[in-house]
Amino acid sequence: MFFQTVQLMHSIIQPSLRHRDNDLSNFTIVCSGCGTELPVGALTCPSDNGLPRAMYSSRQLHLHDHPGMGRFREWLPVNGPMNIKAGPITYRSTGLARELGLTNLYIGFNGYWPEMGANILTCSFKELEAYPTIQRMQELGHCKLVLASAGNTARAFAHAAVGSDIQVYIVVPGSGIDRMWIPEEPSDNIHFISMAKTFDYTDAIRLADRIASLPGMTPEGGARNVARRDGMGTVMLDGAVTMGRIPDHYFQAIGSGTGGIAAFEASVRLQADGRFGKRLSILHLAQNLPFAPIFDAWQHGHREIDEAVDVYNTKQLINQMYTDILSNRKPPYSVPGGVYDALSLSNGHVYGIDNSLARSCNSLFEELEDIDIMAPAAVGVAALVEAVELGRVKADDHILLNITGGGVERLKEDFDLCKIQPELHIDSLDVEIAEILP
Ligand SMILES: *Cc1c(COP(=O)(O)O)cnc(C)c1O
Ligand SMILES: [Zn+2]
Repeated sequence: MFFQTVQLMHSIIQPSLRHRDNDLSNFTIVCSGCGTELPVGALTCPSDNGLPRAMYSSRQLHLHDHPGMGRFREWLPVNGPMNIKAGPITYRSTGLARELGLTNLYIGFNGYWPEMGANILTCSFKELEAYPTIQRMQELGHCKLVLASAGNTARAFAHAAVGSDIQVYIVVPGSGIDRMWIPEEPSDNIHFISMAKTFDYTDAIRLADRIASLPGMTPEGGARNVARRDGMGTVMLDGAVTMGRIPDHYFQAIGSGTGGIAAFEASVRLQADGRFGKRLSILHLAQNLPFAPIFDAWQHGHREIDEAVDVYNTKQLINQMYTDILSNRKPPYSVPGGVYDALSLSNGHVYGIDNSLARSCNSLFEELEDIDIMAPAAVGVAALVEAVELGRVKADDHILLNITGGGVERLKEDFDLCKIQPELHIDSLDVEIAEILP
């Protein structure tokens, strides 16, 4: 069923199919599973629960003359211009490339590294999701946005919302509270709700769902949000534009795997464009052991994730991870258009990376490339090291390594970071949320 959509994406959309919901729109929303056109703001398909996907009327990518990710506006689900400095950058590696014996290793650096033109001030690729999402919400006329995050997404949305008209409600589990800083004074439209240490990311998602069901609130949508995926997909677009071709391989550390789906969708669009080569990028996605549900399911050839593991055990496993940013108990793996489909259609691989390899790859990268990176990014580096050892990549293959976060230390040299204070702290889920919400 997913093949249909790939074909659908490749066929030129009839003008009569466009412009139905919004006369100015350069895209429609269709279901990845069955190809049905969905209403503009839809997060689900009524018949098969497939991920909604944007279909752009331009089959070819024409770059706009903007400094940041607005360059890729043609393939972002927004209608107005995007004037922001943040965007993906790609450079050809020398240090790590030589160490691994690779001649065409390119690094997509998503963080702060002004010397390289990298201006993501919350230091992770989550900011690439936040800007188009907030702009799309404004264009759809929504004014209150709700999301849950273990840290990087929270920062990204808070920063992207500064000075905007949107009220953003951000639910953060206990483990993420220390990560709640932004490089400027937070504005009044940012509402930060913290949870006690006993609650994890999945608990935060549940609470955010309850808040989002209140009148006037709009859920951000996570992996189902097309603005979020296509925002992350600009990493693949920038890589391909830099290399002049679709990369043979794409490496990324995943928790939910949304970035993997996004990279896959971007490579399908580049394939349809015709100027970047015929072959899709092979996805190489990395999880951090011991909590690696996507790795486990993919290893066994399963489309479903085994949810038999009890919650207590799961929390124990998550506590043992090098980086809990990569823990996600309910990833969009089995749904039509999800991680399983993206891996299958790209002949992809999933890696289970242990803590010691992740740690050593963190140092290796920082020494060889001369910039600090976030722990999850090191898990992606480790997958590349394993792939080279296993002979899954050839020395002259074109490789895009997504460094999903980095430059926090570099940022501290230039900015004073401000902590965002919670407006509400939750230590029991047994509350009437509507009554206590700020
Ligand atoms: C969220 C995040 C990831 C994982 O991304 P997904 O594709 O959503 O699984 C990797 N690295 C960093 C730094 C992140 O913040
Ligand atoms: Zn459907």
